[in-house]
Amino acid sequence: MSWLRCEKCGKKLLQRMPNGLFSFKFGRTNDVDNTPIVDLKVHGSLTMLCLKRDCRHRNVFNYFPPTISIENNKEPQSPKQKQPK
Ligand SMILES: [Zn+2]
Repeated sequence: MSWLRCEKCGKKLLQRMPNGLFSFKFGRTNDVDNTPIVDLKVHGSLTMLCLKRDCRHRNVFNYFPPTISIENNKEPQSPKQKQPK
């Protein structure tokens, strides 16, 4: 999964799953499995205020195009390099 960051301060806000869904997880339970309290999946575009208190920038995350703000900036569709013999 890749992280989508606040376009103003760079804080990590959402994750983008390989199938294109936006994933927002917030909070931790005290359970052994350590699952998040909030586990939200969004199929579509959304806006979100930055979680950072002194930022509060409203970010717009568009469902299309599917590749935005991908960390490491790697293209998943790039073909694997073949080893020359
Ligand atoms: Zn921010």
